[in-house]
Amino acid sequence: MPFAATILTLYPEMFPGPLGISLAGRALREGSWSLDAVQIRDFATDKHRSVDDTPAGGGAGMVLRADVLAAAVDSVADDRPVLAMSPRGRPLTQERVRQLSAGPGVTILCGRFEGFDERLFEARDIEPVSIGDYVLSGGEIGAFVLLDACIRLLPGVMGAASSGDDESFETGLLEYPQYTRPVEWEGRAIPEVLRSGDHAKIAAWRKSMAERDTRLRRPDLWERHEGARVQSPSGARRKD
Ligand code: SAH
Repeated sequence: MPFAATILTLYPEMFPGPLGISLAGRALREGSWSLDAVQIRDFATDKHRSVDDTPAGGGAGMVLRADVLAAAVDSVADDRPVLAMSPRGRPLTQERVRQLSAGPGVTILCGRFEGFDERLFEARDIEPVSIGDYVLSGGEIGAFVLLDACIRLLPGVMGAASSGDDESFETGLLEYPQYTRPVEWEGRAIPEVLRSGDHAKIAAWRKSMAERDTRLRRPDLWERHEGARVQSPSGARRKD
């Protein structure tokens, strides 16, 4: 069975959007993955088809109702994990993306307004996921991010490029810097070592650049990487 994505949203017309073009779009048309965008409002029960109400305890904005969202989630009950886009969720990682892309697919619940009635997460098995420490106006763009990251890993979608062990985050590091022709541009040459043809030297240079850039740009990743090496010498050998 191909990777199946179901999006629960107030704006189903946003899909497939950017995922309908380029590699993801071709893979969608070829049936490597499938997409179903479901209108949450179809699960409202009152005559105004309301999906939200004012926050208990007061405050600005509107909160999405647990009963309506639960009905939407229950309508797709199957073996796929249900994720909810939320800045209060666990930050998405390449590791989680890999796990999801290797599974049957995902159901993604997209929030709007002030987000979800918290009881939804108590009553259903739903994993809140954040795409970063900033606030979007809705979960749909987060769903695009998550799906794009999963789809490029599906077999045959990107070929060898997406399985590279060197890619950012796959080793716990950022990728090394890349270059292409022209060899000289605005007086800047491609680093000599990359033109040497010496594969061992190139690999060593790339490793040291990946380490340098991770240390400088992402001290959080670097600390975790170094911590893992100290704790697990076999892990360190594998990375070398
Ligand atoms: N009041 C909420 C923000 C709601 S933003 C809070 O402060 O936590 C409206 C919707 O946008 C959310 O329900 C969620 O679905 C989506 N969203 C906003 N920021 C996000 C992020 N960083 N990651 C994933 N989804 C996000």
